[in-house]
Amino acid sequence: MLDYRLFKTINDFFASGQHDKARHLLMEVQSRCIALRDEVSMLKIRLKTLEDTAFLAENLHLKDGFYWLTANDVRQGPFCPRCYESEGGLIRLERSQKGLHCPYCHAVYPGIRQEAEYQDGATVRHARIIPFAR
Ligand SMILES: [Zn+2]
Repeated sequence: MLDYRLFKTINDFFASGQHDKARHLLMEVQSRCIALRDEVSMLKIRLKTLEDTAFLAENLHLKDGFYWLTANDVRQGPFCPRCYESEGGLIRLERSQKGLHCPYCHAVYPGIRQEAEYQDGATVRHARIIPFAR
């Protein structure tokens, strides 16, 4: 934690002509500021991770063995259950003649047809990672 009284002490050292002491204390304050900035960066990352986790807990749903994400009243998916449960990745499944398959882990879910879930099957061709940002 940064002690703001140090700034007054530094000022007092400069005012009384003790420049070496003032510079030394300035260097110490600089070191503490860098440490604080690093801590803030780490805490921001942790906060973002927690926000993402809370967002998924609220908006990611399991239905018929597949994950679906609902955001802004739009449901997206299905996402590969194997990828989500092993690595936390949301990989949209692609439709093929055999059923659904994952373009990332190559899991195949044979015989599963989710045509009603697709608005336009022709446009669902590529894996897409959905960002967690709202
Ligand atoms: Zn997968």
